Amino acid sequence: MTRSPRENIISRAWPWLEAGLGLLFPPRCLGCGRAGAFWCAACDAQVVLLSGPRCPSCGRPQPKRRLCRHCREHPLRLRARAYALYQGPLARALVSLKYRPHRPLADMLGGWLSELVTRQRWTPSLVVPVPLSPHRMRHRGYNQAALIARSLAGRLGVPWDEGALSRRHETGTQVGLDHEARWHNVAGAFSAMEESVQGRHILLVDDLLTTGATLSACADALRAAGVSEVWGVAVAQAQ
Ligand SMILES: [Zn+2]
Ligand SMILES: [Zn+2]
Repeated sequence: MTRSPRENIISRAWPWLEAGLGLLFPPRCLGCGRAGAFWCAACDAQVVLLSGPRCPSCGRPQPKRRLCRHCREHPLRLRARAYALYQGPLARALVSLKYRPHRPLADMLGGWLSELVTRQRWTPSLVVPVPLSPHRMRHRGYNQAALIARSLAGRLGVPWDEGALSRRHETGTQVGLDHEARWHNVAGAFSAMEESVQGRHILLVDDLLTTGATLSACADALRAAGVSEVWGVAVAQAQ
């Protein structure tokens, strides 16, 4: 993937800038705001891991291991799992990642997801973040899912490709849409670069898993480009 000269300057200067700022302003916890570390032990203890019986398709916690209501209505085109529940300090940290490309946080989350992928015994050969819309990408300047995907790929020892998927058209936010509208909103929204993904086993990465509609639409695009195996991971599952 090629970068613009501007991106190159920023990516080279960033670690120095961040180290300098760290000396001037000691880090504050992204979950609770306490000074000392970017993620404190008290917030870490509040992370609710997803374990026990779940939907085999989307990983949603269920009283019994069987397809959840959402997946019976709209079967997902991949198997997806989230690491923890979207709530409390973790939810606040994930929101903060949309406003600042916090590398240490993304690296910690990549570590969590590598545990999850190893536990699932998935064996991807390429890691691909869920892309932002071109408008959001211009506005934000980075994709938070790509920060996490990069760390995850490094830990798994496989390549990652931020350009393998793109959004064909502006889809608008999924926030506030009901289940049916979410599926409608992202259907056919993505396209995949055939030469990057063909013959690969793809691991999709996102920060948040809600209905699985976005991951499923990404999986559709990948399968249309000749991919046979697709999995999806997200840091947190919305209830
Ligand atoms: Zn904290
Ligand atoms: Zn499900």
